[in-house]
Amino acid sequence: MIPLFDLASQYHSIREEIRSAVDQALDNTQYILGPDVVALENEFAAYCETRYGVGVNSGTSALHLALLAGGVGAGDEVITTPMSFTATVAAIRYTGATPVFADVNSESLTIDPALIESKITERTKAILPVHLYGQSADMDGIMAIAARHRLKVIEDCAQAHGATYRGKRVGSFGDFGCFSFYPSKNLGACGEGGMIVTADEDAANTLRMLRDWGQREKNRHEIQGFNARLEGIQGAVLRVKLRHLERWTEARRSHARYYTRELAGILDTPAEMSTNRHVYHLYVVRTPDRDAFQKVLSDSGVHTGVHYPVPIHLQGAHLDLGYKRGDFPISERAADTVVSLPMFPELTEDQLQTVVSTVKQALQQRSAAEVGAGR
Ligand SMILES: *Cc1c(COP(=O)(O)O)cnc(C)c1O
Repeated sequence: MIPLFDLASQYHSIREEIRSAVDQALDNTQYILGPDVVALENEFAAYCETRYGVGVNSGTSALHLALLAGGVGAGDEVITTPMSFTATVAAIRYTGATPVFADVNSESLTIDPALIESKITERTKAILPVHLYGQSADMDGIMAIAARHRLKVIEDCAQAHGATYRGKRVGSFGDFGCFSFYPSKNLGACGEGGMIVTADEDAANTLRMLRDWGQREKNRHEIQGFNARLEGIQGAVLRVKLRHLERWTEARRSHARYYTRELAGILDTPAEMSTNRHVYHLYVVRTPDRDAFQKVLSDSGVHTGVHYPVPIHLQGAHLDLGYKRGDFPISERAADTVVSLPMFPELTEDQLQTVVSTVKQALQQRSAAEVGAGR
């Protein structure tokens, strides 16, 4: 059996380091925020090539609080992509603002800058690009539009720790970079976690208040805040894992190169844009007859996933926005055809070969069936 991702193999590879860091965090009893979180904030901001990090309790909170710190609220509009995890749009809606969608580039599946400008109105406050599957959006195009229209840029980096665009790390382009440390992300906690990175000291201070009940000083609640703090134990775990992240990323990239070498030409493999260092949070191919393809793989013990089967504008939670099928054809077509193959740093050579040979089998069975059906 080959899973889509494998938390156990990663944990066992660094078990002693994690356990000793957790032990120290338990001993120091700083269970909420505390020294490990402060150290992680500094280390992770430096890793992202920016100044400040603010640790929070999830990637969703990172997006929500960054939008608030960017001044987004009721009556505003935020331009984003329908091709993302649902949290991207939920965070916009938590602020009372309205998400406005622009379709994606058909190769990268990240927001297409050429489709953004026609969506800008006098209510538009921000652009929220998503670095989908581990690959940066087209930041030159997005930053130029934002500058022209004086819009905030809030990057959803939840899938893209360490990804670069023209050699610069994601999270360092916009006003805010928002990360998730959900366990299966490229940098994952032993529980929930997230972080906002920013170069703006005032914004970082506002974010620190927003995550901690709007207080700078204990029991002085200056602004509406939240309980969105990162836990000390997660800070300790993430500091250990951050030290391994580059090595893990290189392993992901090497696995992706192998998949692409073996499968390009017989399957629609992911495009790595020439400006980008893709960190392959997910390795996503596209295929018609996805259900049959996935069934052949799962019958052989190769697990696959779909990220995501329904574009956000067609999700029940957002039907009130008034979008319909046909509004974003590239995202809709992608949602119907994307399949994620097993991708995690600890994949072995044997596992990689098994995935490739099973994919080839599935495609052969399909073409045999097509010949049989006279197609
Ligand atoms: C995981 C994810 C989030 C949300 O992060 P959580 O830590 O689960 O709240 C937001 N956006 C994208 C693109 C994600 O993949």
